[in-house]
Amino acid sequence: RGADLVRRRRRRRGLAAKSTEKGVLSGGMAAWAGNFDCASCGRQRLIGAEFSKNMLEKKRKDPKATLRCKQCVESAAAAEREQAAKRQAERAPAADDEKHTCSACKAALPTSAFNRTQLSKGPEKQRCQQCVAASEQESQAAVEERQRKALSEAKTAMQRAEASGSVAEKLATSAAHAALEAERVTGLKPVVLGRGRTRGASRRGRGAGAR
Ligand SMILES: [Zn+2]
Ligand SMILES: [Zn+2]
Repeated sequence: RGADLVRRRRRRRGLAAKSTEKGVLSGGMAAWAGNFDCASCGRQRLIGAEFSKNMLEKKRKDPKATLRCKQCVESAAAAEREQAAKRQAERAPAADDEKHTCSACKAALPTSAFNRTQLSKGPEKQRCQQCVAASEQESQAAVEERQRKALSEAKTAMQRAEASGSVAEKLATSAAHAALEAERVTGLKPVVLGRGRTRGASRRGRGAGAR
């Protein structure tokens, strides 16, 4: 082991001397195998570690091959990535500039003016957000108008029954009016159980009990 150490020291001394001669004097590992040049940045007498395995393999197969150091390869890759990101960024707003025609107002509007579900319906049916909102307000107004009308008719019928109708008529019109009032307040339609269903169920039950 001692002999090995001596040999190594001797070798290092020799290389150091050589480096000094060339004026490189980077010392240590850099002095070991500085016979690779980078064709890209122009640095010369670089060690193998400055290059990728693939670059060194290329050089081994073809001594005339031009090499690029890891730094240059990496900065080229970074520049490439930057370019790709730039292209992507340029492409993105272009896609967003795409115009779609609203089937209701016939305006050509950007994608952002539509809900995704509307665009999926296609040009024949798609409507812009404004048109969708307007028609929703419209149908809501129509519903309210219908309810108001039904309520006022029920009220008139109830008043007429109270003035001159039978007890049954009075009860029926009052109940109908109350149901509409309740619907207007709660927004829920009154639940009326079907008579047939109830009777059918009870008949089945009774039949089973009799047997
Ligand atoms: Zn380089
Ligand atoms: Zn529209």
